[in-house]
This record gives sequence, C-alpha cells and structure tokens, in this order.
Amino acid sequence: MNRSIAIDGPCGAGKSTVAEEAARRLGGHYLDTGAMYRAVGLYMLSEGIALTDAEGIARAVSKLHVDVQYDGENRQHTFLNGEDVTSQLRQPEVSKAASAVATVKEVRQQMVRRQKELSQELFLVCDGRDIGTCVIPDALLKIYLNAAAEERARRRFEQMSDKSCGFEQVLADINARDYNDMHREESPLCKAQDAVEIDTTHMTFEEVVSEVTRLYRQRAGM
Ligand code: C5P
Repeated sequence: MNRSIAIDGPCGAGKSTVAEEAARRLGGHYLDTGAMYRAVGLYMLSEGIALTDAEGIARAVSKLHVDVQYDGENRQHTFLNGEDVTSQLRQPEVSKAASAVATVKEVRQQMVRRQKELSQELFLVCDGRDIGTCVIPDALLKIYLNAAAEERARRRFEQMSDKSCGFEQVLADINARDYNDMHREESPLCKAQDAVEIDTTHMTFEEVVSEVTRLYRQRAGM
C-alpha cells in the first residue's frame, strides 16, 4: 500500500487547489501531473510539431527530460530539459496542447514512469486523470473530484483576468477537454472502482479539503 493520496477528475473540479492545501495540512508534497503534460505540450508548440502528429510527438518526447522539483516552501517547479517553465504552463493554448499530447502512448509512459518513482520517494497528494487507475493504483486514499460542467466553467471564468473570450467559449473548451480526456484510448479519465467520489458543485473549498483530510486521517489511523 502506498501512503499517497490520488485525486482524479475532470478539469476545473478544483483538484489542484484542494490537493495543494490537503498536502500542506497533512505534511505531504503536492504533485501536479498536469503540469508535466503541459510542459510536453509547450515543447511541441515551441518546436512547431503538429499536435495531430502522434509519431512526431512520440519521437520528440523520447529526447525530452521533464521533471519536477520542490522549493523551500514545498512548491512544485516543472522543468523542461533543465529549464524551469512553471510560469509558462497556464496559457489556454498550452492547455489544449497538453490535452493533445496526453493522448500519445509514449508520452504517457514516460510521464507515468517518473510519477511512479516520485510516489515511491515522497508522500504525495497527486492530482491528474489516471492517478488512481494507473500511477498509484495502491494509494491509501483515492478521490474522484467532480462538479457540473457549467460550475467548472464559471469558476475558470472568474479566475481569468482577460475575459475577452467569453463564458460560452470557456464552457466549450471545458466540454472539449472532458471529451478528449474521457474518450482517448490511452488511460482515459475514469473513476477508479475504489475511489470516493466528491461532487463539489455545491461545496465550499474548505468543505472539500476538510472531507479529503478527514478521509485520509481515518484511513491512516491518524
Ligand atoms: O490538470 P491539467 O488541466 O493541468 O492537465 C492538462 C491536461 O493534461 C489535461 O487536459 C489532460 O488531458 C492531461 N493530463 C492527463 N493525465 C494526467 C494529468 C493531466 O492526461 N495525469
């Protein structure tokens, strides 16, 4: 049994903020696996490799080195071939690129290998799409965090400083990413059989974090 926590779910369900705070309260490290796929996507964009060219992506990723490190405040920094690219990963075009490269088997194999190693070394609160099903299938606690698509889009839209794309576009992007993540051949997003599903549509952030830490303490006998 791995003592880590696996949190999966669709984009915008609150996985990253919940995982980060749960890690802080429980004394673990938050691992944002989406950032690793984003780093791969960023590389393909910067090299002009078409996001539909699965063979080209597979060739390029075999020469790529994606890794994470933690700073003195336990914050994750994501490195692409030795360069800290953390601040470049949140743009909408990188989100789309991440979702596209994440469908390529060779990309997933390489990212999952490193994520598994990290889960052996550290107590992780790890979020993604395949954590409970593939990366840490023996995690002590698995959570599937969900919320209605409109609510997830509303939260994303509120966070955006530039709202020129409009709410409908944000909702359309979320629906498209959900579809991609749930219907791809390689490790599609799905709830692990033994995961606890939490629907956050009508929950506050504090309620969700308290529930995750309560469940963990109960399982760990803390
Ligand atoms: O979580 P985040 O939105 O940053 O992830 C970006 C994209 O990376 C997701 O849309 C998903 O396609 C992919 N991803 C994945 N498996 C993970 C984490 C992210 O396929 N474990």
